[in-house]
Amino acid sequence: MILENDQQVEISINEKIILDFLYRWIRPIRVGDLKNYLNVKHSTLNSQLQNLEEKHLIKWKRYGSVELTEKGKKYSSHLTRHHRILELFLVETLAISVLEAHKISTEITPVASCKFIHYIVQKFGEHDKCPCGNEIPQIEGECSIGGI
Ligand SMILES: [Zn+2]
Ligand SMILES: [Zn+2]
Repeated sequence: MILENDQQVEISINEKIILDFLYRWIRPIRVGDLKNYLNVKHSTLNSQLQNLEEKHLIKWKRYGSVELTEKGKKYSSHLTRHHRILELFLVETLAISVLEAHKISTEITPVASCKFIHYIVQKFGEHDKCPCGNEIPQIEGECSIGGI
């Protein structure tokens, strides 16, 4: 959830998958390529992008590319923080490969709460990098319970 004019904006699981992907992708991406990477139908993706655009989280040029807005970057860096802390958790607790941890983390990031992430950090401490060697984004203050 994000706060906008004192109103909470709900972001669906599928929209979170898109935001997490866009943060890790860094640069603008064509809608066709995004569709292939996420393996979703064009019509489904279009309506999800429209929702994200209405929430001012992405810039979307029709028939062109999609990229995060400043607000979108802030929100998605929080998601990617969750993603990478979950990778760490999976590797540490289940002793699975980094690649497998990445795949599973992609599946569970959209449903993991800040509270869950908070407990993982309490147990394993703050890390600079995830098991793949990518930076774990820091956020202002701590991962807030109910903040996402
Ligand atoms: Zn969080
Ligand atoms: Zn990683």
